[in-house]
Amino acid sequence: MNFESCKNFLKDTVHSVMSVDSPTGFTRSAVDTAEKLVQEIGYPTRRTRKGNLVITVEGRDESKRVGLCAHLDTLGLVVRSITAEGKLMFSPLGAPLLPSLEGEFCRIHTKSGKVYTGTILSLSPAIHVFSDAPTRPRDAANMAVTIDEPVYSKEDVLALGIRPGDFIAYDPKTTFTESGYLKSRFIDDKGSVSLLITLLKLMKDAGVKPAYHTEIAFTVYEEVGHGGAAMFENMDELLVVDMGCVGDDLSCTEQQVSICAKDSGGPYDYDMVSRLVRLAEENGVDFAVDIYPRYSSDAGAYWGAGHDTPAALIGPGVWGSHGMERTHLDGLINTMKLAALYLDVR
Ligand SMILES: [Zn+2]
Repeated sequence: MNFESCKNFLKDTVHSVMSVDSPTGFTRSAVDTAEKLVQEIGYPTRRTRKGNLVITVEGRDESKRVGLCAHLDTLGLVVRSITAEGKLMFSPLGAPLLPSLEGEFCRIHTKSGKVYTGTILSLSPAIHVFSDAPTRPRDAANMAVTIDEPVYSKEDVLALGIRPGDFIAYDPKTTFTESGYLKSRFIDDKGSVSLLITLLKLMKDAGVKPAYHTEIAFTVYEEVGHGGAAMFENMDELLVVDMGCVGDDLSCTEQQVSICAKDSGGPYDYDMVSRLVRLAEENGVDFAVDIYPRYSSDAGAYWGAGHDTPAALIGPGVWGSHGMERTHLDGLINTMKLAALYLDVR
């Protein structure tokens, strides 16, 4: 398959998937978008009751069942309370790097379907007014959303229909640079969702099938730990595609595919990790093997739910995870190549 030819499709897919808000717990529109993209390529889909999207790909040999997954939910915020001045205090969804959110534009989605815009700011946001503007902690107790409406009291905000429990999604600011970098929030893990959709497109265009019956799940509760618990039953193997860690003493770069040997949940399946390393080595895929010091994945959720299935994890190297993230087109394509080798489509 010609991986170079798919760069524009991959970029378009990244923009499509990133453009729909999907903070964990509020993912239906993003699932609709992914479902439409996959159905247009020509693969059947179904949804689990919790909202995961599952794509079925017929294999050359249907006697063995292989699962892949990536997560479509992202970090975000939810309205916790409304201040007397009409600001929105928030509670984080998942673990966003809160200081990195200062100054971000956001959308507030009300339960009636209205969308308001706002800005996430410190509660001491003005250098000319607050002596502690530079030093006030950037955390949930000291940051709030300023709504782009003339609101000066809690009552004004309630009159807009904004309530505690409403979801707040902040701008991903998705940008591809001339030098091939992808700068965006939520590359974890919409980068992986996009590269798997692109791989499906390549497979369909080339008229090739994977070695075995394959199901690909786009999960919607990964950031809070249980997305992968209920994806599919009776899989012989599971390959999770999620972001690869970059930084400190880890060896992965943004240009490489990372193969995770161990994360906070312990080691991944030895045979699968060894096979992935061998496939990358033998086929010239630029890769790194690392342990992730502070990380968990849908494989852990799947195992925690009691599935007797070996699992491994690969993904593009991502810098600045859960903050303003960055990877490189080469990292996305090397991940796509390794996933293709794993499925034995060439
Ligand atoms: Zn992730």
